[in-house]
Amino acid sequence: MSNLTKSYKQDKVTGNFDAIIIGSGLGGLTTAAFLAKEGKKVLVLEQHYTAGGFTHVFNRRGYEWDVGLHYIGEVNREQNDLTKMFKYVTDGNLKWAEMDPVYDKLFFGNEVYDFVAGPEEFKVELKKHFTASEDQEAIDKYVDLIYATQRSQKLYFAEKVLPVFLSNLFGNWMRKKALQQNKTTEEVLSGLTKNKKLIAVLTGQYGDYGLAPSKSSFMMHAMLVKHYMKGGNYPIGGASQIFETIAPVIQKTGGEIFTNAMVKEIIVKNNKAVGVRMIDGKEILAPIVVSNAGIVNTYKHLLPETERKEHNTDDMFKHVRPSVGHVCLYIGINKSNDELKLGKANYWIFPDNYDHDKNLDAFIANPDAELPVVYISFPSSKDPDWERRFPGKTTIEIISPAPFEWYQEWQDKRWKKRGAEYDALKEKFAQRLLETLYKKHPNLRGQIDFYEFSTPLSTQHFANYQYGELYGLDHTTERFNQKFLRVNTPVKNLFLTGQDVISCGIGGALFSGLLTAMAITKKNLLSRI
Ligand SMILES: Cc1cc2nc3c(=O)[nH]c(=O)nc-3n(C[C@H](O)[C@H](O)[C@H](O)COP(=O)(O)OP(=O)(O)OC[C@H]3O[C@@H](n4cnc5c(N)ncnc54)[C@H](O)[C@@H]3O)c2cc1C
Repeated sequence: MSNLTKSYKQDKVTGNFDAIIIGSGLGGLTTAAFLAKEGKKVLVLEQHYTAGGFTHVFNRRGYEWDVGLHYIGEVNREQNDLTKMFKYVTDGNLKWAEMDPVYDKLFFGNEVYDFVAGPEEFKVELKKHFTASEDQEAIDKYVDLIYATQRSQKLYFAEKVLPVFLSNLFGNWMRKKALQQNKTTEEVLSGLTKNKKLIAVLTGQYGDYGLAPSKSSFMMHAMLVKHYMKGGNYPIGGASQIFETIAPVIQKTGGEIFTNAMVKEIIVKNNKAVGVRMIDGKEILAPIVVSNAGIVNTYKHLLPETERKEHNTDDMFKHVRPSVGHVCLYIGINKSNDELKLGKANYWIFPDNYDHDKNLDAFIANPDAELPVVYISFPSSKDPDWERRFPGKTTIEIISPAPFEWYQEWQDKRWKKRGAEYDALKEKFAQRLLETLYKKHPNLRGQIDFYEFSTPLSTQHFANYQYGELYGLDHTTERFNQKFLRVNTPVKNLFLTGQDVISCGIGGALFSGLLTAMAITKKNLLSRI
């Protein structure tokens, strides 16, 4: 990565740029790459010491882990927009490996439900568990509804790129059809079936967007389920390949990517963004500024107070809120994937009462309650290049939700120096997650060579999400009603990109990059792909 980035601590930013992008998450990188393809010279400023946002990886003691990419759908089919977009922004250099046909395995007590790639295969497998004719009918209707809902969203998202005057004219009409399904996931599924078990299984991937069925918008649920319906994929060479293959495209037109480059403020003159001020006070000017730092950072911290007041940005936060935080246990084992045979499928492990809402509420009220969902990923098994890069080693990641408030009291202490009480809390949770893993793979007990536990403070520290939020803004019905979650802002030449514009997920972030670049260039860049 060294020749792809410069460090703001050591190198000076020199020369002129056509645009500055705050943050090197996938939305920022994609915006930059699309602009570079249009001949623009772009400067990407990333506060972390590694570029890539949630697609970055980190290493400890000879192991490597991804942080925010465990699987992605729809990238292995030539005709799909995501496939084409990734090809375009990486000059075709990013390669994907398909997971096995079973991409997600859901455990409710002793019952195991496999999510199998392909809508027909998905239905057939589920119907083995739900044999009553009304359940089978509900499964068919559900899959049809997922596709119909997703199709209805095209105009809704296209509206996000319109200038305000056009949005005022056509916006409501463009959003209307999609918003008909902006009900809670529970409400929509209850209209299809009264079988609570079936609803719990169909919403078993809720951890992919972070909200239980009674609180999430069905718009988000449908997007997510459809995204994985034809299976999961993993980048060959690991998640860092995303940055490594996009960065050269940005550099082709003279663009640069700086790490350790924390932007403090967006400089605005006469309601026009003209550059950024760094935390060391240095000003960098450019005619276009794009924020990939999330809505909370942008509208609460980066925009100067005068503009915040003028545009009432604080009012926006009456309608949206940060998503929940998460903990993750990163595990290294000194044995190869071949020896351990863990498989590629992700595990979703739930209590056996089939009630996600109740379980999540109980856990948030009491951290000692049963873990509402434990997600286990086996990244080294998914990457066909892993054995060449890390021979004889295996990695596992275990994730569970965790409110930021549980860890908040330590937020002002330094990373790795947060004290014995914090460390003890982490260790207690780490052991709970390990025990969950051993229940599924008893042979792993005694085999763990290394583990490290991250908390929402890690997300705050490394990704600058103020509340350690896992997925940016929560995907509630109220979120999808908001018109201000768009690429244009009330400040001229200031644009937004990233997961808060469309939705969380690699696909959402990638798509936001396309829309932002379209708004900046005023060209239909879809035709390029
Ligand atoms: C644990 C976890 C697992 C996930 N798993 C999956 C998965 O399997 N599949 C999937 O599709 N999606 C997954 N996601 C979601 C996906 O990773 C994200 O939705 C997506 O990567 C977000 O991209 P983004 O463009 O919004 O930017 P982000 O990746 O959020 O990056 C924003 C960047 O801005 C930088 N920044 C912030 N403030 C400043 C500042 N002031 N100055 C400079 N830089 C700044 C941050 O450091 C960060 O690098 C996961 C996320 C998490 C957290």
